[in-house]
Amino acid sequence: MIHAHARSRAPRPASHALEPLAEGPTASVSVCECGCLHIAIGAITLRMEPSAAASLCATLREGIEALDFHTFGITHRIAEGHSS
Ligand SMILES: [Zn+2]
Repeated sequence: MIHAHARSRAPRPASHALEPLAEGPTASVSVCECGCLHIAIGAITLRMEPSAAASLCATLREGIEALDFHTFGITHRIAEGHSS
């Protein structure tokens, strides 16, 4: 039986060294040597293009703003005394 010799992976252009950009209580953001952003959230790291991250950020903001409206609506109803 002939096995293709398991080569080490194709030479990587860089060691994917990270440079930290921002750190918060929930997530941290670093930029990689290869140009992608690493967004670390707990045990998960999202790697994406900066433009995709910007889009994600906008969507997150939109969602949270929408949530604020919802929460406000709910607390408002509670405050009005709708108990049924
Ligand atoms: Zn990289």
